[in-house]
Amino acid sequence: MRICVYCSSSSAVDSVYVQAARELGRLIGARGHALIYGGANVGLMRELARAVKAEGGHVTGVVPERLRRLGLADGEADELLYTATMAERKALMEQRAEAFVALPGGFGTLEELLQVLTLKQLGYLRGAVVVLNTAGFYEHLLAHWEELYRQRFAKEDYRALYHVAQTPLEALEHIEGYTEPDLPTKWY
Ligand code: AMP
Repeated sequence: MRICVYCSSSSAVDSVYVQAARELGRLIGARGHALIYGGANVGLMRELARAVKAEGGHVTGVVPERLRRLGLADGEADELLYTATMAERKALMEQRAEAFVALPGGFGTLEELLQVLTLKQLGYLRGAVVVLNTAGFYEHLLAHWEELYRQRFAKEDYRALYHVAQTPLEALEHIEGYTEPDLPTKWY
C-alpha cells in the first residue's frame, strides 16, 4: 500500500519521536508498503525515509521547488517529485497515497493532517487517516476535537474519520485492516 506520512522537519525533538519515526519506517518497509512523504533530508522525515529504505521499501518524496533550492530535497529517495507550490505538493501527496499517518510534527504536519480530514469529511478523499500519538503528543489536539463534538461543531460520527494509534505497529495494523466507514452528511 502507498502510505503518506506527515511528520516533523525538526532535528531537535526528543529521541522518543525519532524512535517512533524509525519504527514506523521499518514497519512500512518490512511489511511491503511504499512511503510518500515531504522528501526532506531533515528531522523525522529523514529518519523515517532512511528506515523504510533500510528494509528495501520504496520512497517517494514530494518537494516544492523553493525547498529544493534551499538544499532540503532528500537525494536518497527512490523518486523525487517537484512542485511549484506547497498546495500542489499536498495535492500530489493526497492523490498518490492510499492511507495517511501523522507522526508528531509542527505547523506543517498539523496543516497536512487537518487538510486530509477536511477533504475526507467532504468526500473528496478516501483512505485511513491515523494520528500517531507517540508519548501522548496529540492529547491536547484530541481534547480540542472532543470540544468540537461536545459543542456540535462536528458530528460524533466523524470520529470515524481518523484512528488514534499509540504505536507504529498499531497504526499499520489499522491501515491494513481498514474499510471505509459510511458516514452521514456533515451538516446538521
Ligand atoms: P513541520 O511539522 O512544521 O516540521 O512540517 C513538516 C511537514 O511539512 C512535513 O510533513 C512536510 O510534508 C512539510 N515540510 C516541512 N518542511 C519541509 C521541508 N523542508 N521539505 C519538505 N517538506 C517540508
